[in-house]
Amino acid sequence: MAWLIKGGWVVTAEKVEQADLLIEGDKIVARGPGLTAASAEVLDARGKYILPGIIDAHVHYQMPIGNLWTADDFYTGTVVAACGGVTTVIDYAEPTRSEDRLEEVIEHRLREAKDKVAVDFSLHLVLLPGHEDDKKALQAAVDRGLVSFKVFTTYNQRLSYEAIGKCIQNAKKLGALVTVHAEDHDLVMSARKKLEAEKRTSAHYHALSRPPEAEIEAVRRLLHIAKECQAPLYFVHVSTGGAAELIAGVRKEGLKVFGETCPHYLLLTEEVYATKDAPLYLMCPPLRKEQDNRKLWQALAEGHLQVVATDHCSYTPEQKAAGTSFWDTPAGVPGTETLLPLLYSYGVREGWLSLPQLVQVLSTNPARLFGLYPRKGDLNPGSDADIVIFDPRRELQLNAKVLHSAAGYTPFAGHTLKGYPEATFLRGELIYYQGRFLGRPGQGQFIPGKRH
Ligand SMILES: [Zn+2]
Repeated sequence: MAWLIKGGWVVTAEKVEQADLLIEGDKIVARGPGLTAASAEVLDARGKYILPGIIDAHVHYQMPIGNLWTADDFYTGTVVAACGGVTTVIDYAEPTRSEDRLEEVIEHRLREAKDKVAVDFSLHLVLLPGHEDDKKALQAAVDRGLVSFKVFTTYNQRLSYEAIGKCIQNAKKLGALVTVHAEDHDLVMSARKKLEAEKRTSAHYHALSRPPEAEIEAVRRLLHIAKECQAPLYFVHVSTGGAAELIAGVRKEGLKVFGETCPHYLLLTEEVYATKDAPLYLMCPPLRKEQDNRKLWQALAEGHLQVVATDHCSYTPEQKAAGTSFWDTPAGVPGTETLLPLLYSYGVREGWLSLPQLVQVLSTNPARLFGLYPRKGDLNPGSDADIVIFDPRRELQLNAKVLHSAAGYTPFAGHTLKGYPEATFLRGELIYYQGRFLGRPGQGQFIPGKRH
């Protein structure tokens, strides 16, 4: 089937131009003014923005913690994506024990996703202690298309700083990118012990239990290691202005380090932990202060942070309420569906980002960093026809009823959106139009990443 999208404003990482787009089969075949195609279905996009499909580079669908599963599985999670203009998500293949064979972990995760995904997906590979030096398994993972490794400095999964150094060196040789959850474990544990001694352990104390210094210290130490290895490193979900400033500093020295932040760190503050809804906002790292929001926007605007992703990890209010403390309340918030409209409303309209910058942080940069470019992340002839038509005039007071996550709530309730996705194409197929999901489970494909 062919589609001709007429008269919209085409936005890429470089520019905004009034142009038509011609789609044949699953690819974009032409872009320019005054295109015609007799057999194509015409979609009038006058007054709308045409963006490359959004990439949410950090999601957790169908993820177990013990017996507790996230509310969204690979199907509902990717329906959520489609309805938010997101055409590629990057989830995780995650071993449960160091003894697990990474090859089997990867194949198992691919099987879990295969018949359910409604948009395309790729995978990061989580490494547990010992995996970081299993060169054969890491090579096999890269060959399979998992070109980014995820390590933690905290939790039971944590690697020592030394082991992360080893991991960075091995990844460099393989052309893979190490991504890291950076919160210093010792600082997190000492904050927790202090609060336990004071009997202040409810979700209200979540921000105090994982202080900004924990993130800043871990980032500082990891930047030092990356510098020694002269190798790239990517920080997931940067939450503090302090960490963003450290990243900016070493980037100015020419080191290839990258940072991601999330809409909740840009738009929400720790004040919500004082309310009865504290568990609904509990994620790690926690929300910070307004000055952090501002510094993170600034870092995005100046290119010191390169990606906004959501860390979508959904639990229902009932699942959240089962927690009795900041450490046993399921951590995470839903976010994929609101990623694009929030970044447009509060990033572009408020003057932090230009339209090309919006496309950079939500599509082109993640595509490049995770080996999906130029198939994803652009609107050139030859690219997959993953396209969002975005209506900048559609206004919406955000509430859970208009959204599709099985979480059943949004941490952004009450935010005013000025601009909303109108249509989403996945490889040439219309999978979302004006509030309705039109795709089907299993329609998404695994997109292997290419090494750097
Ligand atoms: Zn995460």
